[in-house]
Amino acid sequence: MGYGTAAWYQSIHKYGYAWGICLGEKLVRKIALEIATIEGNRITNLPNECVVVQLIAAATFCLYLHERFHHRVESFAIRTQIVDGRPCYLPYMRSVYRFAKLTDDLIEEALAEAESIREISNMGRFRDALHPIVLKSTIEYLKKAIPLGPPGYRRGLSYTQDKKMESGLGFLWSQMRGLSPKPTQPSDEWVLLGRIHDALLECRHDIWIVKNGRHSVFPLEDSQPTCSSDDLKELLLRHGYHTISEPNDPIQRLKKNKKEVDIHPGYKRVPHGVLKNVLRAVANDPHLERELHDLAGI
Ligand SMILES: [Zn+2]
Repeated sequence: MGYGTAAWYQSIHKYGYAWGICLGEKLVRKIALEIATIEGNRITNLPNECVVVQLIAAATFCLYLHERFHHRVESFAIRTQIVDGRPCYLPYMRSVYRFAKLTDDLIEEALAEAESIREISNMGRFRDALHPIVLKSTIEYLKKAIPLGPPGYRRGLSYTQDKKMESGLGFLWSQMRGLSPKPTQPSDEWVLLGRIHDALLECRHDIWIVKNGRHSVFPLEDSQPTCSSDDLKELLLRHGYHTISEPNDPIQRLKKNKKEVDIHPGYKRVPHGVLKNVLRAVANDPHLERELHDLAGI
């Protein structure tokens, strides 16, 4: 199975500036097709140019909303760390998430699935963006697909009601704060704090599409400025930066005077979050900045 067949969240804790939501294009296409076949004839009656964009948007929303929930979980963990003064996210991943992985005790994945269907079903921008027929098909698709998911994920429909979601979130927050699959802090205590898991950063600008071939179903995807990671490193070295990380580190840190930048050689093309950070760092170096603009096509 390739990366194009999956979707995942790259956490700030592990990936730094390369954090974000990754959507495999092959998976987006597969879900779009499944949504299309739910209401078959009625969807094919819509104008062609409308239906393709709508189905791709609907499939993208399903995946995006699930992955955005993981960013919200990390946002909660960062707030908790500030209050409690000790790390929360990585210890939670080790002691609760991985411990419960591929079992129905993994509540984070169930809540991520619930978030997806709740956001699309409830009034709001995701619902408003979809044609009523496509919207109905998408909700039907999620109702059928979620119970067929892996353990943990397949319990998503148990949390679609407001009260169930609220108590599910409370339980997850208690697990995270207590770093235990069986927390002692009562779940209902969290209700008083309201939306403690609102996203700390704007995810919409940190979505990466993982392509399977040269042609993308996302028309804007190719217009984002970027360049090859090797070319970027070569440019920085030529302008006086030197490497301060170990040769095999997945994130390579380069330094010049007091400026430090991170690059990710694992990505052939520089993710735009990483490029934004490098551009910020070289802003006081006009020659380098101009060459980087040329390199990235800005
Ligand atoms: Zn997930």
